[in-house]
Amino acid sequence: MNIKSIDARAIRVPLDESYHESEAGIDSFNHVIATVSAEGYTGVGEADFLSLAQNSAPAVASMMNRTVADELVGMDAFDIEGIVDRIVDETELVLSPESTAGAMSCVDLALWDLQGKALDLPAYKLLGGKVTDAVEVSYTLSASTPDEMADSANEMIDYGYRTLVVKAGRDGLDVDRERMRQVRNTVGDDIEIRVDVNGGYADAEEAIAAIEMFEEYDVEYVEQPIERGDVDGMRKIRESVDVPVVADESLVTLEDAYRLAESDSFDIFNIKPTKCGGLHRSCKIAAVAESAGIPCLVGGHPQQEIARQASRHFAASRSAVNCGFANEGPGPASQSLVGHVTENVVTYDDVAELDGHVGVPDDPGLGVELDSSAMDQFTVTS
Ligand SMILES: [Mg+2]
Repeated sequence: MNIKSIDARAIRVPLDESYHESEAGIDSFNHVIATVSAEGYTGVGEADFLSLAQNSAPAVASMMNRTVADELVGMDAFDIEGIVDRIVDETELVLSPESTAGAMSCVDLALWDLQGKALDLPAYKLLGGKVTDAVEVSYTLSASTPDEMADSANEMIDYGYRTLVVKAGRDGLDVDRERMRQVRNTVGDDIEIRVDVNGGYADAEEAIAAIEMFEEYDVEYVEQPIERGDVDGMRKIRESVDVPVVADESLVTLEDAYRLAESDSFDIFNIKPTKCGGLHRSCKIAAVAESAGIPCLVGGHPQQEIARQASRHFAASRSAVNCGFANEGPGPASQSLVGHVTENVVTYDDVAELDGHVGVPDDPGLGVELDSSAMDQFTVTS
C-alpha cells in the first residue's frame, strides 16, 4: 500500500480569548495539518503550534511538501518505523527537536488514520486494543486573576470535571499562592488540583519554595517546575519535596525518556503524542516509562480534533498511562477556538454527559474527517 502523496498545510485559527500559560498569552493556534494518500484512502495528521514554536508552521509545512514528501512517496504506508526514521534523517539537522517531533507527528498520525481506514478498524485496535472505554479528563484554568480562575473552576465542575490544573510560575509566588487559595476554597476538598509551571520558576530553590507552599493546598502533583534542560535541578527538587513532579517540556524525544528515567529526576511522565513525535514514538516512550516504573499521563497542547482523537486512542490503549488525562489532549476542544478544521468535535457538553469523561472513538482510523472549507479558511498561504 504505497504512499501516493503527502500534502502539508499550515493553519492559523484565532481565539476568542487569549490563552495564558506561564510565559505568554496566545491569541491563535498555529498548526500543520498533513494528509497522506495511498490506494484510494486518505489519512489526516496534525502537528501543534508549540511543537513548531521555534520554526514557523508555514516553514515546516513547506519542508514537509518538498524534502520529506520526496523521500516518503512510494514507501509502504504500513512501514511506520522506517517512515519515522526517514523523517528524522531529513529534518533533525535543520529543525529543533520540538519541530522534528512535529514533522514526525503530522505524518505519523495520518498513517495510523490511513491504516485504520484501510482495515476498517479504529486506531486503538492497531495500537494493541483498549484497556478502558472512556478517559477521565482534567481542565486547565487559564492564568488570570484569582477571582476569574475561581469562577472558571466552578463552571468546569458543573460540566463534571473532578480534576483542575492551575497554571503557575509566571507572576511570582504571592500571585501563585492567591490563585491556589481562591481556587481551593471555591472547589472544596473533593476536587483534585494539579499545578503546571511550564518551566516558569527561575531555579530549583524557587521551585522548592513554591511546591512547599502548594502542599498546604493538597495538590496532586506539580508539572515542569523549571526549564527543560536542568536535570540536576529537577533531581534536587524531587529529593526535596513530597509532592510528585511531572516531566512535560523535558520529555520530547525517546532519548529524553531514557535520560529522565535513569536520572531519577521526575516521578511522572506527561506524554503528548504531538510533542513526542506521534503515536509510534509515544508508544516507545510509554514502554521506557513502564520499564522504569514511572506512571504516565496524557496531555496535549491546544489542538485541533485530529490530535485530540489520536490522544484518546493512545490514552485508552496503554496500561502505563494511568495517571490522568489533560483537557488539552484527550479532552474537548477549547471553547475559545474560533473554528475547527474537522467535521465533528467533542464538546464540554459531551464531557458533562459522561460525568467528566471522554469516550474513545470506534470509527475507522482516528475517527476524524477534515472540513475542506474550514481548511481553506484557516490555511496560511505565506
Ligand atoms: Mg504541561
